[in-house]
Amino acid sequence: MKSRLGFTTLAVLTSFGLGAAIGPWIITRAPQTALAMAPAAAQAVPPEDGKLRIIIFGAHPDDAEYAGAGVAMKWAKQGHHVKLVSATNGDIGHWQSAGGPLAARRLKEVQEVARRLGVTNEVLDIHDGEIMPTLENRRTFTKLIRQWNADLVIGPRPNDYHPDHRYTSVLVQDSAYMVTVPFFGPDVPFLRKNPVFMYRSDRFQRPNPFRADVAVDIDDVVEPALDALLVMESQIHEGGANGYLGLMPEDAAGQQKRRAEVRRDWQRRYAGAATSFRAALAKNYGEARAAKVKHAQAFEVCEYGYQPKPDELKKLFPF
Ligand SMILES: [Zn+2]
Repeated sequence: MKSRLGFTTLAVLTSFGLGAAIGPWIITRAPQTALAMAPAAAQAVPPEDGKLRIIIFGAHPDDAEYAGAGVAMKWAKQGHHVKLVSATNGDIGHWQSAGGPLAARRLKEVQEVARRLGVTNEVLDIHDGEIMPTLENRRTFTKLIRQWNADLVIGPRPNDYHPDHRYTSVLVQDSAYMVTVPFFGPDVPFLRKNPVFMYRSDRFQRPNPFRADVAVDIDDVVEPALDALLVMESQIHEGGANGYLGLMPEDAAGQQKRRAEVRRDWQRRYAGAATSFRAALAKNYGEARAAKVKHAQAFEVCEYGYQPKPDELKKLFPF
C-alpha cells in the first residue's frame, strides 16, 4: 500500500500507540496486503505542540538507533518528537540468514528499541546493500523530513565505510535544500524554515575527521539506552553480516556472558565519546561538570541547511 507520502513503508511504530505487529511472513517488497501499515504511517506525525521535532536517518535498522540512543531518550523524556528512519530494510545484514525473514526480524528489533526509547520509527522497503542516491530516493527523504516538519535532521557523514551509509548521507544532504523548494515533490508541503542538519559522530579521518559542535551528557539515560540497543541481537550479539557460528553461544550461561560482554563494549563506545569530546562537553556544561561526564554523544553541524547560532543550537539540545 502506498502511504500518503507516496512510497511503500515497511512499518511504523509510534510512541502514540499506533504501532502494529507485523507477521514473520513478510517478504521483501512483499505483496501489498502484507504491508498494510500506511494509515499508521500517515497518523504517526505528531501534533504541532511547540515541542522539538527531530528526525534521525540511518542506513540500516540499527544505525539511527545507535546515533539516537541516549540523546533521543533525553529528547523523548522532555516530550519532544523523535523519529528514527532506516533507509534500507536490512535484509542482508546477517551472516546466516537473509531476505524477508531477516528484514522482519530486524524490523521487530528496531520497533522494540523505539518503544523503549519513547520514539517513533520507520523502516523503508529498500534492499540492504542497494540504496542509491536516486531522484526517487531524494523525493522520499525530502518528503519524510517535510512530513515530520523537522527542526533538526541527523544523518551519517558522507565518508563512511559502507556504501549504504555514504548514500544515506548523500540523500540527507540532497534534501537539505530541496525541503524548502515549493515545486519539488509538491504533494507534501515544503518547509518555510530550513531545518538544522547535523552529522552523527564517527571515526573516519579522510578527507576530514568528525568535528564535535555539540556534545551531550547521556549519563542519566545510558543504562536504559543500552538496554534498548541490546534488543538488536541479530546485530549486536550475533555480529550481523560479519558474525559467525558460535559468536552467540547456545547455552544460557554462555549467552549471559556474551550479553554482558557486548553491553560493556557499547558502554565503552559512549564512554570513549565522553573522553574524545570533552572540549565540546565543556562548551555545553562548563569545565567542572564536563570533567565528570562519563558517557556522551556528539554531533557536527552540516554546512547545508540552516546554520544555527550558539543559542539556537542550545535550544535544539535543551539538556
Ligand atoms: Zn549500517
